[in-house]
Amino acid sequence: MAEASAAAPGRKPIVPFLTIPEDPAEKPYLSGSRCKRCGATYLGTRMACSKCFSTEAMESVRLSDRGELHVFSIVHQSAPGVPTPYVAAIVDLPEGVSVRCNINGVEPDPAKLKFGMPVQMVTETIRTDREGNDVVAFSFKPA
Ligand SMILES: [Zn+2]
Repeated sequence: MAEASAAAPGRKPIVPFLTIPEDPAEKPYLSGSRCKRCGATYLGTRMACSKCFSTEAMESVRLSDRGELHVFSIVHQSAPGVPTPYVAAIVDLPEGVSVRCNINGVEPDPAKLKFGMPVQMVTETIRTDREGNDVVAFSFKPA
């Protein structure tokens, strides 16, 4: 079971569904839950399946780090301290899961982005928390 507390000491995910393996050589990945009855897959942990309404325990799955850009928007105004413009997007993973994320590694220009283009997940340390842990965030970039 991938819980936030299972993260390696020294590295903390910014969201609970980003799993950071204890081995620093292993890449972080997104985790999801799959319904044992109908196979529907969700981002993060779920108590019940919204497709078949099964409340059986779901199995934890490792989601693909590659997907397709489903939809995007160039954000020009954000909270103070957040550099703009940036690309906010929804990426579809092959497991049938949609992930809200930012797209990095590309100019925030609609001409440089295409619906359905292949993207790959990347992670980076965005800051250090009060306990000295590296806080790790994920985004996607063109594959
Ligand atoms: Zn189901």
